[in-house]
Amino acid sequence: MRINFNVPPYTGRELEYIRQAVEAQKICGDGEFTARCNKWLVDRTGAKEALLTTSCTHATEMSALLLGIREGDEIIMPSYTFVSTANAFVLRGGVPVFVDIRPDTMNIDENRIEAAITDRTRAIAVMHYAGVACEMDAIMDIAQRHHLAVVEDAAQAILCTYKGRALGAIGDLGNYSFHETKNLSCGEGGAILMRDDTYADQAVIVREKGTNRTLYRMGRVDKYSWIAPGSSWLPSELNAAYLYAQMEMADEMNARRLRLWAQYHEAFADLADAGKIERPTIPAECVHNAHMYYIKCRDEAERAGLIRYLRDHDILPASHYVPLHSAAAGLRYSRFHGEDEWTTRESLRLLRLPMYYTLTDEDQEEVILRVKEYYHAA
Ligand SMILES: *Cc1c(COP(=O)(O)O)cnc(C)c1O
Repeated sequence: MRINFNVPPYTGRELEYIRQAVEAQKICGDGEFTARCNKWLVDRTGAKEALLTTSCTHATEMSALLLGIREGDEIIMPSYTFVSTANAFVLRGGVPVFVDIRPDTMNIDENRIEAAITDRTRAIAVMHYAGVACEMDAIMDIAQRHHLAVVEDAAQAILCTYKGRALGAIGDLGNYSFHETKNLSCGEGGAILMRDDTYADQAVIVREKGTNRTLYRMGRVDKYSWIAPGSSWLPSELNAAYLYAQMEMADEMNARRLRLWAQYHEAFADLADAGKIERPTIPAECVHNAHMYYIKCRDEAERAGLIRYLRDHDILPASHYVPLHSAAAGLRYSRFHGEDEWTTRESLRLLRLPMYYTLTDEDQEEVILRVKEYYHAA
């Protein structure tokens, strides 16, 4: 394809920083670059603690472990999300209980959460689709009244805010992704954010194979040993070095993406006004990060035609999630509470367009032109 759906971000300093890590003779986890990344995350989000992890999937697994999720515990979440939001809890015997989404933001419908609460409910796992925040005030209020933890899947939401607060640092735990499809990336990587210090001591233990090696390195204990169940969730310094180069450039990268987003949005205003497509909605209290630009076609058939048309013109668009409750594992390990009014219907007509830091204006104009042609509006 001439215009791909995604191109992994690369800004120029990454290899130099990897060389520095190699020369420092410290390439396993938790060296200087990891510390810089952790600090950047704390500075930019206001979280009490942040730790790089090997992925967002692993950060979510860590969250499930830290919350003490056990066999039969229920976790309320949207079905329109990536598998890891659910899988991390299923691995601990938890049962995802899906509720419907809102069609405007594709996020969990906060008004349908309370009816899904049972005496086995332990947590609400929200996911901020496209970096646009869920209704966090309402969700935190429900959680507080029912004594539930809130885990934010903020994989797509770095640099995003809700009423001025950083996504990922509002719930008890928040998880970021630095996969190559995300705004900042080191190939595979993630982070866990902690709003307060409730989980801080335990987090460094479970992330270091269940040992207190972190305390040992800080000189707080004179040998390290097995303390608790845990795993190997800390990334190598090589990944952290690559990522830190992008953290330094994050505002510039974000500004470019937001510009591309605004250009798509403006270009498709006429199609939207004519009722041919729908464009994304950004609620007033949300600042997003242009993680994605999507449009909604009338239905699945019209979307299939547009995908074919763009592919024929060497452009690669992408549909998105198959709702988890209708997938093979979802049928076995989870249930849907209430009506699926929007989840399936909206998932079948949403189409994501090419969006990446190095997308040129010329290539974007080509994408816009072809979409308009498909709708006989060029
Ligand atoms: C990308 C993504 C993940 C997984 O991130 P990894 O770092 O690849 O594990 C999880 N949830 C959502 C919503 C994502 O977009």
